[in-house]
This record gives sequence, structure tokens and C-alpha cells, in this order.
Amino acid sequence: MTRLLLCGVYKPYGVQDDTGEALCTMELLNNQVTREQGIHSPRSSNPSFGLYLLAENLNVPVTVLDFPTWEEFTREIDTGGYSHVGISFIVPNVLKARRMAEYIRKAAPRAKIILGGHGTAIPGIRELVDCDEVCHGEGVAWLRHYFGEETDRPIVHPVVESAVNGYVYGAPLLGKAGILIPGVGCQNSCRFCSTSHKFDRKYTPFLATGEEMFEACRKAEQVLGVDDFGVIDENFCKEPARARELLAEMERNGKAYSFSIFSSAETLAVLGIDFLLRLGVNFIWIGVESKANLFEKTRGVDLHRLVAELQDHGISVLASSILFLEHHDKKTIHEDIEWALSLESDFSQFMGLGPTPGTQLYRDYEAAGKLLAGIPWPKKHGQDEIWFHHPEFTLPESARYLKDAFVRKYEEQGPGVLAMAHTAVKGYLALRAEIEDREKKGLAWDPETMRYVQGQAPAPDPFMRLRLERVKKTALMFRPALGAMMRYAPNARAEAKCRKVMAMYREAFGPMSLTDRLKAMAVRVFALRESRRIRKEGVVMRQPPTRRVTYPERKAVARCPVQREAMIA
Ligand code: SF4
Repeated sequence: MTRLLLCGVYKPYGVQDDTGEALCTMELLNNQVTREQGIHSPRSSNPSFGLYLLAENLNVPVTVLDFPTWEEFTREIDTGGYSHVGISFIVPNVLKARRMAEYIRKAAPRAKIILGGHGTAIPGIRELVDCDEVCHGEGVAWLRHYFGEETDRPIVHPVVESAVNGYVYGAPLLGKAGILIPGVGCQNSCRFCSTSHKFDRKYTPFLATGEEMFEACRKAEQVLGVDDFGVIDENFCKEPARARELLAEMERNGKAYSFSIFSSAETLAVLGIDFLLRLGVNFIWIGVESKANLFEKTRGVDLHRLVAELQDHGISVLASSILFLEHHDKKTIHEDIEWALSLESDFSQFMGLGPTPGTQLYRDYEAAGKLLAGIPWPKKHGQDEIWFHHPEFTLPESARYLKDAFVRKYEEQGPGVLAMAHTAVKGYLALRAEIEDREKKGLAWDPETMRYVQGQAPAPDPFMRLRLERVKKTALMFRPALGAMMRYAPNARAEAKCRKVMAMYREAFGPMSLTDRLKAMAVRVFALRESRRIRKEGVVMRQPPTRRVTYPERKAVARCPVQREAMIA
């Protein structure tokens, strides 16, 4: 009987051994965003969303095994009776995938091994990892075809939390968010972009309309109790019609869900701040890449203005830059780091240019003989040394430049969580004032022009009042942590910023409630313990718990709000 196991690579992550790298922690924020921010760095791991999407959309029985230990993985192979095993991995984890495949061949020789994920773009992957099939492009259609199922039946969106094992200042994060996967790929085709190339430089929607997106939100709200969503879509605002439909659905149903999105600068500039606020965007990841404006997506956009406008309205911004581009030398790289810092985004990501297999950049560098031989795949993750010849930088220098850029961000602008708290409370105050002002003036939302226009008479805007409550909820999440932010502030400048933010919270919400004061005390206790651990261990590694979810049982769970998937640990 056909039985499919879909698994991610085994833990521990972020540990230097013969298959893994210390700087590859499987934690997005701590790894490459709030890197070098010590105790202020929020910690969490993201489930392997794609596996849940695939499992939900196949007719064959599937088990998803996410974050397993080696023992849990081998036990699953030994006892599961699987006819097929899919292993999903990124480039730096290819040696873990190889070890898993070797075990499958020995312990379950009749099982077919299917490789998936970005790591499959590695040239000669079939020789490196023993396998029967390599899944190319969008996986739902590929697997349905492989198992002889109808490829074009509708997509069922999975219900998955956006992050697990969340901590800040050593205190467990209580707030939860869900994920939405509206589609994969991006037609912008930036030369270095793995995602765009993996999906053949085109966009494949899973949730093609705003109505479908709204239904996915509603389902997640029923099952997980969430009203905040991480939108896993490379360039969500590239499809403005769908975003407009989603807003219309929320207004129609009186639901003010909120969203963290990835979007390119040019699409944000077109949609405008009023629309983004009404839609409920509270966090945006923008690829600003370089001051040199080398990419179509940032050309003609005043990024300083865009970032400031978003933050002034309560939308946190993560600005992502690339170091060691072709035009970088010892002078221009500093100019670019300076420029990225001058955006004063809440978070900055600095990534080393990575000629990643599958991309145009990889092909160009390979043809030009620029790729360096002998660098192991686990080291090719963009947060350490470059792995190609750059005329201006040695390998050890490149690692130092990256680290120094993160240190500068932290020391000059303070912790990212403090910036987020600042943006959130600033946005709440601004939105409250704007709503009151518009209501007094009789300005009403016009979905056609996506602007507020003069109405007949002063009138309330119930949807934005609802939205304001959601913004308040987000802002108040940070308040209990402000004391710890102050106590562990890296310098006087960060302390002063913290004091200013605390004053803004008092202005917006009055004195702290008893509950918040108790929460603040608890965070201080957790923070004290965490700071001692950091002093002793350096970076504290927390491995995410194993998740084992079986389908079709999980499909029944999605219909029943009281059940949850089995957690092994
Ligand atoms: S806009 Fe972003 S997602 Fe799209 S191709 Fe460029 S880097 Fe990739």
C-alpha cells in the first residue's frame, strides 16, 4: 500500500558537527535578522510549512515528521512501513539529507526516496544524495502527478502556526499567529533569488482570490484561535486585486485580521499607506538590497520616505541588504552599510551575496570560474564567509564585514524588539488620531480609488475602529518586555529610546495594568536567568519540539477545533 512520509532534516540545529553548521540555526530571526543582539533577539523556529501543504493536498496517506531527532526519524522508518519517503532540505542541510537517505536505503530498501526543497538545485544532487526522484518546481502538482492523482483539483490550505518554540528574554512567547501560503515563486526574477528560480520565474497561486484567503484565515482562527498571520508569499502585494478582495471580505464579515508580509518596494508604493493600514499589514519585509539601485523593484522608489511612512503608521519594517555585490569595494561596501542603517528600519538583514545553485547568479559565476572549490555545502548559507572569488574581499574578511554590520545596527539603533515596540505604539497613536480626524471631517473609504474621500456628513468608520483594537492588541504585547529591554539596553542611547517608548505607552494606554505589571516582573525573572545562561553558554540553543502529524486524520482535525495534532516532545 502507498504510504508517504514527508520529513524535514533532523535536529540538533545550529550545532557544528559532520553534517551541520553552528551558524545555521533554523531560526530566521536569530540567525540573520536579530543576529548579535544577544538577549534581545527573539527566538523561534518556523514549521516546514510546505510539508503540511503537500500532505493536505494528497489522497495517499501521509505522515509529516517535522524537527525529528535522529532516533525519531530512524524509528519512523523502521516501524512506519512507508512505500515512499520525501526529504525536504535547503542547501546547507544537504549532508543531513544524505545521511537520512543512506539510512532509508539500508532499513527500508523498498521505499522510494523523493527529494524536495531548495537543496535539490545542487548540481549532481542525485549523486550526492541517493534517491529515486527529485521534485522540481511546485510540489503539490508534482506529487499529485507522481501518485497518479488529479493535478488540478482545488488546493486545501493547511492550518499551521507560523512559529513554534518562541521565546523573548528567555520568557515563552504566548501570542500565536497562523500562516497563509497564497502562492509560490516570483516573476521579478532577480538574478540571485532562489525562490524565483526554483519556481521557474513565475508565480503559482494557491489562494487565487481574496475570498479564498479570507476562508483560510477563518479556518485558522477556528482551529488555532489566531487572528494574526504570517503571509508566506515572496511578493504578496504583486497581486493587488487579491489584496483588495481580501480587505473587502474582512469588511463584509467584520473581521480585522492582521498580516506580516514580504513585498517589493515598487508594489508597496503603488498600493499606498492607507490601503496597507486598512488591510491590517503590521510587518513588512522589503528587499532594499543596495544603495546602487541595481534592481528593478527599488528603482524610482524613495526608500527612506517609504520606510518612515510605514513605521509612522505602525508598520514594522525589515530592510534586507546584500553585501559583496560586484560593485562593492572597501569603500562602497561601507557606503552601502551606512545607507542601509540610515533607513532606520526596525530590523536589518545583511546577507552575503550567495551564488546559490539554480539561480542565474550561480550560472554566471560558474561560467566565469568565480566559484571557489572545496567549500562544503553546509557553509554556503550567507551568514559566514562568501564562497566565490570577489576581487576586493578575502573569505575571512567577508565574515567580519557581515558580523560588524549587525553589531553596528544593534549598537547604533538598539534592539529590534524595542524598535518594534516603538513603531507599534507610534502607529497606534497616529491611527487613533487619523480615524478621529477623518470621522469628524466626514471622509470615507473608497475601495475603487483606495483613498479616503469626502462623504456627505461626519460618519463613524466601524471597520477602522475594529482595526484600531487589533493594533492596540499588537502594541500591548510588547509592554511587559519594556523593563527587560531597559535593564539589558546595550548603551545609553538605547536606554533613552526605551524611556521614550515607555512614555509613549503611558500616553497611549495610561499606567500599566496589574496583569501587565505581573507579566513584566515575570519577564524580568526569565531575562535574569537567560542572561546568566548566555554568559555561560554563549548563544542559548533551544531545539524545536518534534511534530508528527498524520493525514488523513489531520484533515478531520482541521474540521474540529478542539483537537490538536500529536506532539512527540
Ligand atoms: S522581488 Fe524578491 S522574491 Fe521576487 S525575484 Fe526579486 S528577490 Fe526574489
